[in-house]
Amino acid sequence: MIHHTIIPDTLKAVFFDMDGVLYDSMTNHAQTWVESFQAAGISFPAYDAYLNEGRTGPSTIEVAFEKYAHRPATEADIQKIYDHKTELMQSAPTPGIMPGMQNVVQQTMAAGFRVIVVTGSKQPSLISRLKKDFNIEDENVVSGFDVKKGKPDPEPYLMALKKANCEAGEALVIENAPLGVEASCGAGITTIAVNTGILEAEILSRAGAGMVLSGTQELADNWKSLIRQ
Ligand code: MG
Repeated sequence: MIHHTIIPDTLKAVFFDMDGVLYDSMTNHAQTWVESFQAAGISFPAYDAYLNEGRTGPSTIEVAFEKYAHRPATEADIQKIYDHKTELMQSAPTPGIMPGMQNVVQQTMAAGFRVIVVTGSKQPSLISRLKKDFNIEDENVVSGFDVKKGKPDPEPYLMALKKANCEAGEALVIENAPLGVEASCGAGITTIAVNTGILEAEILSRAGAGMVLSGTQELADNWKSLIRQ
């Protein structure tokens, strides 16, 4: 049973993460990370790709080097692995839309709430689909191109609050990654996590999510009543 008590009474805007929330793109990210690290002689488990989801590419490589190569990544390491990953992503299968999410976004807009996408991604292949798939205009996107620090820093969500011209207490975030939840909670925004990856649900609660759902279909099934439509 879903409790509605965490949703702000004065809700004005809903911020959606992109990978793993709007698009089923995390398996591509995980596989291309594993493969590009492997080519550099580092065994980076898929689990860690999910654990670090939301970080910028260079930050993910730095974290992986400290943990698995026991040395800092050089600029050359970062460039080589990130370029390889980008190349692999270009030939990865086209990700589908997450179950129920077109309805969720449509209902949110119909209810008069501002919708903003907040992603660390710089992938034009997905960002450019937002208009066609979700009717989300470019001006309502905060992407990896806009931020300096990125998740888990609250920066991207603070930018979204500014864009929506609302206070943290008037917004709601839908996230799937622990570092994304950390970023939104750091910005003071109530966050619902959808556990669409391979991590344990407790990791998302521990990051600060007010509610953890088993997936986007569960969110879609309850969305209208959640936003009191
Ligand atoms: Mg995500």
